[in-house]
Amino acid sequence: MLDIQKIRNDFPILEREVNGKPLIYFDNGATSQTPKVVIDAIVDYYSNYNSNIHRGVHALSQEATDKYEAARIKIQKHFNAKHAYEIILTSGTTESINIVASGFSSLLEEGDEVIVSALEHHSNIVPWQMMCEKAGAILKVLPMKEDGSLRMDLFDEMLNAKTKLVFCNHVSNALGIINPIESIIHRAHKFGAYVLIDGAQACPHIKPDVQELDVDFYVASAHKMCGPTGVGLLYGKQELLEMLPPYQGGGEMIETVTFEKTTYAGLPHKFEAGTPNICGGIAFGVAIDYMNAIGFENIQDQEIILLEYATQKLQNIEGLKIYGTANKTSVISFNIGEIHPYDIGAILDKLGIAVRTGHHCAQPIMNFFEIPGTVRASMAFYNTKEEIDILVNAVEKAKMMLS
Ligand SMILES: *Cc1c(COP(=O)(O)O)cnc(C)c1O
Repeated sequence: MLDIQKIRNDFPILEREVNGKPLIYFDNGATSQTPKVVIDAIVDYYSNYNSNIHRGVHALSQEATDKYEAARIKIQKHFNAKHAYEIILTSGTTESINIVASGFSSLLEEGDEVIVSALEHHSNIVPWQMMCEKAGAILKVLPMKEDGSLRMDLFDEMLNAKTKLVFCNHVSNALGIINPIESIIHRAHKFGAYVLIDGAQACPHIKPDVQELDVDFYVASAHKMCGPTGVGLLYGKQELLEMLPPYQGGGEMIETVTFEKTTYAGLPHKFEAGTPNICGGIAFGVAIDYMNAIGFENIQDQEIILLEYATQKLQNIEGLKIYGTANKTSVISFNIGEIHPYDIGAILDKLGIAVRTGHHCAQPIMNFFEIPGTVRASMAFYNTKEEIDILVNAVEKAKMMLS
């Protein structure tokens, strides 16, 4: 068992008050909080060796380069990629997806088909729509069920020889549902389609093994897994990253440049034009070390306790409906009767409780349930049962005030 009080001491922000009440942070699905070791790594970078990488011969540049490349290897090990150069450091999930979508828009042919799941975040919908528009490809949607799981029974029928790509999130950010990505990858591969898995919402809870999954592309953001904002990764199989054209032109991504012809750098630099988020990349490595030191099994055990406790307590509130009941992570998306989720969120905020309200960048899911949005409480391993008790009391209070 984790010593939660000890863990909470790692997060300075958990000490603060909001509106005169101790902060209760249940918006981990939007961004996680940052442990002191990660904050220290950021301060250390700017205090001691801030400089540009891969360029200078001087000591600071060498130190920054070494630490940045060491972070890439930590990320490689964490995701079990075969090679460090299969890890492209990006500004986050959104950019990672855009690199792949933009690349495929020049590789797909008219009439090719791509499948996207009904559970996607806008960042895993819009880039593919743009790609399909450019290439003349057809975007198909794998529907979902009332319990928030995917209609896997329809998946085989949707696949055919024209299917080139399949996109799905590992865990839905709006509902927390864990998708059967092993089965999606396996079935898509039978038809020769490539699969991109959006792991932004899974990686705070699950440690994926990209080789075991045999996934073609896997993307995630540091800021949802105890790291800083503005950095994330694109994992791709070597041969696929080599096949994709570069995303942006600029410094760092070239081998030779003349006005007649430029040749591109090898992996990973081909996709890393310009000065990257050096400090962010290094701090991402520290965040990964931090989470692994706690251990993903321990994280999951604690989160299951919180999820079960909160689900049970919230369900006792009359009129409260939880959306997404299939196998899931520690996310509870709910509404009470006809009360607008925003109004509940505003009252909770007055009581120091941070939740997310709205469509969670997943309007198609809200349309499916015919609701404007939900209140989403997303829990992390540093949350406690006591905080859930306060949340439940506050939700009851909000219900009384608003009905
Ligand atoms: C947060 C999130 C994204 C977008 O991540 P950014 O860090 O904003 O680029 C994409 N997909 C899912 C499932 C998410 O939870």
